[in-house]
Amino acid sequence: MSDMEYPLVYASWETRAYWEGCGRGEIVLQRCRSCQTVQHKPRAICATCLSSEIDHFVASGRATIYTFTVTHQNQALPFRDHCPYVMAYVTLEEGPRLFTNIVGAEPSTVRIGMAVVADFAPQVRTDGEVFAVPRFRPE
Ligand SMILES: [Zn+2]
Repeated sequence: MSDMEYPLVYASWETRAYWEGCGRGEIVLQRCRSCQTVQHKPRAICATCLSSEIDHFVASGRATIYTFTVTHQNQALPFRDHCPYVMAYVTLEEGPRLFTNIVGAEPSTVRIGMAVVADFAPQVRTDGEVFAVPRFRPE
C-alpha cells in the first residue's frame, strides 16, 4: 500500500516552528521560561501561566500510545484507500499528547502503552515550504 497523502499543512505564525521542525524530521515543542511547562499545540503564550516568554526545543521523538482506535470504514479521500488505519493519542516523552497516525504496524498488534517513535511523511508542495506530517511507528 502506498503512503497516505495528507492534506497540505498550513503554518500560521504560531505553528511555523513546529511544521518547519517536522520538515527537518524533528518534533519541536515549546517550554515556558517562567513556569517550565512544556506545551503542544504551539501558542504565543503559555497555556498554564499566560507568560509570553516561550522557547522552542527539539523533542526526543519518543512516545507511548495513550489510546487509539482502528478505523475500518472512511469514505473520504485520502483515507478510504488506507483502511484499516490507526489513529492514536501518543504521550510524548516530554509530556504533551499528540493526535496522530500509527504506521508500520498491523492494527491488530497496536496496544496502549506501546513505545513508538516519530516518523515523518514529507509533503509534495509547490510553494517552497518544507513541511512534513508527523506519524509514529513502533520502536
Ligand atoms: Zn508558563
